Amino acid sequence: MRRVLRRYLDSHCHLHEFSDEEIESFSELDISIVAVSDDLPSSRRTLELAKRIDWVIPALGLHPWEVTAESIDDAKEVAELIRSNSSVVRIVGEVGLDKRFRPNTIAFQTEVFRLFIDVARELQLGMTVHSVNTWRDVLDMLYRNDVPVAVFHWYTGPLELLEEIRDRGYMISVNPAISIQQKHRRVVEAAPIDMMLLESDAPYNYRGMKLHPSMVRDVVHAIASAKGMDPSEVLEVIRENSLRFLRRCGVGI
Ligand SMILES: [Zn+2]
Repeated sequence: MRRVLRRYLDSHCHLHEFSDEEIESFSELDISIVAVSDDLPSSRRTLELAKRIDWVIPALGLHPWEVTAESIDDAKEVAELIRSNSSVVRIVGEVGLDKRFRPNTIAFQTEVFRLFIDVARELQLGMTVHSVNTWRDVLDMLYRNDVPVAVFHWYTGPLELLEEIRDRGYMISVNPAISIQQKHRRVVEAAPIDMMLLESDAPYNYRGMKLHPSMVRDVVHAIASAKGMDPSEVLEVIRENSLRFLRRCGVGI
């Protein structure tokens, strides 16, 4: 099945957490969704959703918050699921490292992340990565291991790293939290717009803000205000970025 790029691309959403009825209602939004997974069961559900909905672009992986000492077997199984479905699954995620919220499991996180990096390089897949307080480590691991395409999701890291992320051919995604999170807004002010994608990270609840895919439309306006641009112009650029990103991942669009 060929994937469809609608007006907007939500490049990072935990679609598996929504009910079938809710997902059905998302059909009315003019949004295609990169559906990221957290673990083995959600990877299976994401794949199943993508097999029947053409605006769902599946990403399979193991979220760093879910990683424990016992996770390596699950990671191998998710990797096998990616390999055996690699015509459909062209993105790995959500994967990465987190030293801020899960400092105690960083050794296991690193082992799991390495495994997914190997899969991405082997199959030339894109990655959507979580890199809280590990921005430099994640960038170095991706680049040194020849990962071709990656998005630093909800990037709140150092502004000095933005240029290097872009030079490596990687991107960042902008979350609706930009309306209340100063450090995210500063990232958007500093980053060139040609490295930006939209995301919701739904249904995560950020400081009382219940994230939803429809909010990517507000993100366009927030970027426009941060950049002093016209929203329609922002949407046009972001759409080009989204198309470029998906094609580089090998998503048939
Ligand atoms: Zn996420």
